[in-house]
Amino acid sequence: MRVLVVEDEPRMAELIRQGLEEETYAVDTIGRGDEVLTWVQSAPYDIILLDIMLPGMSGLEVCRILREEGFLMPILILTARDALLDKVKGLDSGADDYLVKPFAIEELTARIRALARREGPTKKAELVVADLVLDPATKLARRGSREIELTAKEYALLETMMRRPGQVISRSQIIDHVWDMEFVSGSKLIEVYIHTLRKKIDDGFPVKLIQTVRGMGYRIGDPRERH
Ligand code: CA
Repeated sequence: MRVLVVEDEPRMAELIRQGLEEETYAVDTIGRGDEVLTWVQSAPYDIILLDIMLPGMSGLEVCRILREEGFLMPILILTARDALLDKVKGLDSGADDYLVKPFAIEELTARIRALARREGPTKKAELVVADLVLDPATKLARRGSREIELTAKEYALLETMMRRPGQVISRSQIIDHVWDMEFVSGSKLIEVYIHTLRKKIDDGFPVKLIQTVRGMGYRIGDPRERH
């Protein structure tokens, strides 16, 4: 999951970034409303957190423009305390949800998980591919009866693949959804992570769920279900 945080108060932006990175999200933060469109055009964000009072352009205006331009990712508005009118206007301008400041980071991450579910093909909290189950709330994976512990980036990579079961996902799509703007291009990071994920998920099982699609990328799914 890759998140764009638009917040001009540096301490607030940093708190949000830390909280979301602990949840394994890839996070980019910017502080101006009039830069949002450029950023969403350059990377496929899964969700946007949007402050209302921003230099350059207000969050409400940003929200309206994003929807007009056809961007459909969930937008969560961050409003000042008791600003009821902001909430109403935010939802009217195309936002999906709002959160009143100050908020607990746990509440923010719970809202994000709920919005991510709304976008996915399934409403269930757990992601399931064949006998592999991933729980976004606990970050635990299970294959058959085996519990699998994952590091933050392994989790993020597996989640990105499991949200697109059976589809080929390219290296650049993986980078876009799992890493932030600081990813070093040309590095072998993805291959390394895929290798470790394979060991954890496929070793000891006759059916290998993670497949390499030569020249294109990777796919997760039961290969016997393909014709
Ligand atoms: Ca602000």
